[in-house]
Amino acid sequence: MTKELLGLSKEELLSEIMSIGEKPFRAKQLWQWIYFRGETNFDNMSNLSKDLRIKLKEHYTITRPKIVDEQISIDKTHKWLLEFADGQRIETVYIPEDDRGAVCVSTQVGCAVGCTFCHTGSQKITRNLTAGEIVAQFMIARDAYKEWPSPTNETRYLSNIVVMGMGEPLHNKDEVFKALKILSDGSGVAISKRRITLSTSGIVPNIEAVASELGVKLAISLHAPTNEKRSEIMPINNRYKIEDILEACQKYQAIMGMSRMITFEYLMLKDFNDSIEDAKILVALMKKYKLGAKFNLIPFNPWPGCKYQPSSNNKVHAFSKFLESAGYEAPIRVARGQDILAACGQLKSKKTSEF
Ligand code: SAH
Ligand code: SF4
Repeated sequence: MTKELLGLSKEELLSEIMSIGEKPFRAKQLWQWIYFRGETNFDNMSNLSKDLRIKLKEHYTITRPKIVDEQISIDKTHKWLLEFADGQRIETVYIPEDDRGAVCVSTQVGCAVGCTFCHTGSQKITRNLTAGEIVAQFMIARDAYKEWPSPTNETRYLSNIVVMGMGEPLHNKDEVFKALKILSDGSGVAISKRRITLSTSGIVPNIEAVASELGVKLAISLHAPTNEKRSEIMPINNRYKIEDILEACQKYQAIMGMSRMITFEYLMLKDFNDSIEDAKILVALMKKYKLGAKFNLIPFNPWPGCKYQPSSNNKVHAFSKFLESAGYEAPIRVARGQDILAACGQLKSKKTSEF
């Protein structure tokens, strides 16, 4: 049996290399081949001796998941359905902008949080992804855009990572953190931590660690201004209340600094949470907790069988204006890749044609 190298931390890679009797600097070289050059074939690792390449092949593999399906939206959003060795499937999305782009990675097969508006949440949790499986999603996207070796300038096709795909990342904290440490390492893939955003439904005990152990940007899926309303659409709110989440956000900001804005994602659901009254309560909450915050208003993306309607444009704009007049940025997110079910909350473990 060969062992998979993708997803090992630097320390783990080093001990592997030592365990086959090689010098520590070989681990550095391998790391560069895997994460700076994107190489998967030991035969192409030209600065390693032939004997070493043979030895590596005997013991190890560097694999990519199988691409089961791949779709590109009319707006160029690119979605992959990926299958891992045990047959489990997840989706990964690349969202291009003019001079940059974000890869949206999944962290679990399904999700245990079960938000009523989310397509992923309607699929029960099957398992956590490993660090290697999370890293591999980014590698697949970089392979597709041939962005190897890792570009050193700021303009890249793949410049950002958003942990906003399938799953609740803070229910799989250890593997997610390990993956993001690998992807942000400066001698490999080198995506700066300022360009990585982790989005959570609010798993309170793990929020502070996003700052203390990792240092990436934080987004909170808030979606409602009161506990009563939030519990109705996000069952996790029965466990972790809005006040607990905002206190955890204060701890995050105490470590990261007030200038590191926390994004509050707010899904606009027709006649449920889209009134000016709701916006007023939100502003009062933010003022009370003195958070450096901005909002991201998300138009609801429908999926087959969902029971919600998106708010009207007028309401979304009025809501945004109100928040902005209170001093909070509140852009309206443009839905991307809707035609291929690649937008927020639309991901699942199936081909789009199978719905
Ligand atoms: N589990 C994490 C991250 C993945 S979801 C979280 O919930 O934050 C990424 C974002 O998509 C979240 O803000 C989520 O609430 C939002 N989302 C889920 N379903 C959606 C839908 N149908 N339309 C628009 N956004 C949705
Ligand atoms: Fe899970 Fe996030 Fe979807 Fe809620 S919105 S079910 S936490 S993936």
